[in-house]
Amino acid sequence: MRLSAYFMPTIKETPSEAQIVSHRLMLRSGMIRQASAGIYSWLPLGFRVLKNIEQIVREEQDRSGAQEVLMPTIQSADLWRQSGRYDAYGPEMLRIEDRHGRDMLYGPTNEELITDIFKTSVKSYRDVPKMLYHIQWKFRDEVRPRFGIMRGREFLMKDNYSFDIDYEGAKRAYNKMFVAYLRTFARMGLKAIPMEADTGPIGGNLSHEFIILADTGESAVYCHGDFLDFDVLGQDMDYEQDLEPVIAEWTALYARTDEKHDPAVFEKEVPECNRVERRGIEVGHIFYFGTKYSEPLGALVANPAGEQVPVHMGSYGIGVSRLAGAIIEASHDDNGIIWPEAVAPFHVGLINLKAADPACAKACEDIYATLRGAGIEVLYDDRDERAGTKFADMDLIGLPWQLIVGPRGLEKGQVELKRRQGGAREELSLDSALSKLMP
Ligand code: ATP
Ligand code: MG
Repeated sequence: MRLSAYFMPTIKETPSEAQIVSHRLMLRSGMIRQASAGIYSWLPLGFRVLKNIEQIVREEQDRSGAQEVLMPTIQSADLWRQSGRYDAYGPEMLRIEDRHGRDMLYGPTNEELITDIFKTSVKSYRDVPKMLYHIQWKFRDEVRPRFGIMRGREFLMKDNYSFDIDYEGAKRAYNKMFVAYLRTFARMGLKAIPMEADTGPIGGNLSHEFIILADTGESAVYCHGDFLDFDVLGQDMDYEQDLEPVIAEWTALYARTDEKHDPAVFEKEVPECNRVERRGIEVGHIFYFGTKYSEPLGALVANPAGEQVPVHMGSYGIGVSRLAGAIIEASHDDNGIIWPEAVAPFHVGLINLKAADPACAKACEDIYATLRGAGIEVLYDDRDERAGTKFADMDLIGLPWQLIVGPRGLEKGQVELKRRQGGAREELSLDSALSKLMP
């Protein structure tokens, strides 16, 4: 993509409405634009990041055996009346009436709808286990939408729902999601801590929140420092094997949210030098809630003895849009965003220091074509702007690599390669710079 043609409305001033760094940087880099309180449009740069995050989430859900569906954003109130949540959900639910006077709502979550889909199609224990997920916009009329897309009213969530014949089956599904979540966040360059959590309004009795460390986070985090050394991607995780022992090992390391934290137990279980007491951002949440919805909505299957029993369910959410902000909170410096490779909107920023110089322009065009030919995503700054502006914009948007081409270097047959993370710069021949960027 040529920056001269790209829609990337950057802002120089610090937006006054933004209290935290990710919100400021997303506005300044032209990733998002507020439409109304807690509701945002995603502009090209932000949209690319959102899609990259979504794709990692999707791949790890699929790997665990879950199947993707797509349910609507607008739901009928009827099912919510049956589950008892239509009144219980309160003012966070956006209620709508259609032209026939029917009560509708913009879904804040999908337990009722997926349970209804399941019950009309599945009759026997032979048809379970199943895990069905979708990645869809949700609406929650938050009292205080804030921090940009981190606590929005409309936000993109991955929600998965598991169906099993009994608790043991449901626990297996829960464990798969537990591992899938650790893998998902690790692939995004994040260290997510699974913390025992309260089950809250969704109800149930087994629940973990996945929290990434960031000083601006809304949750308090207490855990054993060893957790941060686990390398989940380095382990060969087989979803067909019993994951219980693996998870037991992780959960043995004290990790609690505010409500579950017991300072006396923390001090007893975790040596002082290993105590992590920080703040963090909730990026995912998994629940087992048994038959809470299958009973009232009549999602029954025949067990091997021929009896009709309600299915055991769990639900598993990831804040896909929140992650875009959370990753920035975890990875930035004074000059801007530092995208981890896996979610970066482009891999390389190609900077032409002197767009008016024919030799520079020719070299850049060639590099641009070569990189694109190799399937590498490049943002080519071909604008007729001062070098300082180009450097500042490139640092702001945080692409992993910057390839800098100027007339003086070219005379010596050299270009400069800069790593955004850490800022190391190298003068290299064009060929060796290119080979560093090629897969
Ligand atoms: P929170 O405690 O942050 O309000 P929650 O517990 O209400 O979140 P869940 O119902 O567990 O949220 O939703 C699953 C995930 O969706 C959360 O882990 C979070 O990452 C994301 N999420 C929830 N509410 C919002 C929001 N208002 N804006 C953006 N993402 C959200
Ligand atoms: Mg939650």
